[in-house]
Amino acid sequence: MHISQNTNSTIHKSSFLSVTKEEKNDLSKSQLIYLPDTDCQIKSQVPLATLTSFRVGGPAQWYVAPRNLEALKACFEWANTQGLAITLLGAGSNLLVSDRGLPGLVISTRHLRHTEFKPDTGQVIAAAGEPLPRLAWQAAERGWQGLEWAVGIPGSVGGAVVMNAGAHKSCTADMLVNTQVLAPSGILETLTPQQLSYSYRTSSLQGSQCLVTQAIFQLQPGSDPEQVMATTSQHLEQRRTTQPYHLPSCGSVFRNPKPYTAGLLIEQTGLKGYQIGGAQVAERHANFILNCGGATASDIFQLINYIQQQVQQHRGIWLKPEVRILGEFE
Ligand SMILES: Cc1cc2nc3c(=O)[nH]c(=O)nc-3n(C[C@H](O)[C@H](O)[C@H](O)COP(=O)(O)OP(=O)(O)OC[C@H]3O[C@@H](n4cnc5c(N)ncnc54)[C@H](O)[C@@H]3O)c2cc1C
Repeated sequence: MHISQNTNSTIHKSSFLSVTKEEKNDLSKSQLIYLPDTDCQIKSQVPLATLTSFRVGGPAQWYVAPRNLEALKACFEWANTQGLAITLLGAGSNLLVSDRGLPGLVISTRHLRHTEFKPDTGQVIAAAGEPLPRLAWQAAERGWQGLEWAVGIPGSVGGAVVMNAGAHKSCTADMLVNTQVLAPSGILETLTPQQLSYSYRTSSLQGSQCLVTQAIFQLQPGSDPEQVMATTSQHLEQRRTTQPYHLPSCGSVFRNPKPYTAGLLIEQTGLKGYQIGGAQVAERHANFILNCGGATASDIFQLINYIQQQVQQHRGIWLKPEVRILGEFE
């Protein structure tokens, strides 16, 4: 049996140890479960605030960050056996997690990191947990064009595939060749962009429980690395000067209701700087909500609702959140 650093933890190792109803509901107990034949540690009561870019939210009832496909499958199997809901977590840069935390098992892709550049095809294979900015820089350093736009998006490859992340008039769907997904049943499938029903910041994977394990992107090798790096730097610089990167946020909170931009509608409603608790509508970009220190998820949720109501009242448009809201809110 493995040794735990946390002396208050209960440690279990078993071929699918069963969790009692009392244990499922008792979030005050700290436990560790080691899945057999994996190096996978499932922990209870793990704070999620440090794992999201908003820096708010309560604990996961159970949390795990598998390092390979076998471990991932074992985690799905364990959750299924226990009858637990599954929440998938990438870099946490587009999430608002309830202060009450999340029931069930949270599976993080943060340890699934790997890239492979294929010079013969110009394709790059990237694992789900690979940070998008790191991938963009790796491509630029090789003189491969195609991901310069992604450098300022602090998400993971998996999150980008699911959210169809985009910037500077490009988006994930434009360069995706295919993606490998793992269904909760344990079945692995390769899906093309056509099968993902992509449109603006959405895909059919949103809310599907299928975990993106890797993605293949088509890039254009053969350019001068200095030139690609210069363009990548310019994109980053442009975002840093027009968007507030100095405080925790989730980037744009609302989808743009074409032909308008959410930021302009919020600004014209006079909400720049408006604050509820520690959550504030950013002065620099009104579609950003900032955690100015000590904000709760509830503060942010209330501010989202307030903005929706005010914009509806003044402009007759109901803004739809781009941020994924997880857990219970009043
Ligand atoms: C400062 C800042 C700037 C931003 N700028 C942009 C921008 O310019 N353009 C843009 O599009 N976005 C932007 N975002 C939002 C965010 O970075 C993107 O939506 C990003 O794609 C989210 O990726 P993630 O890994 O953080 O996903 P998470 O926030 O962890 O998750 C988002 C959703 O994807 C699901 N998910 C995550 N990983 C997987 C996986 N491997 N398999 C299945 N489901 C998964 C989650 O369950 C959740 O539903 C910004 C955010 C911040 C904080």
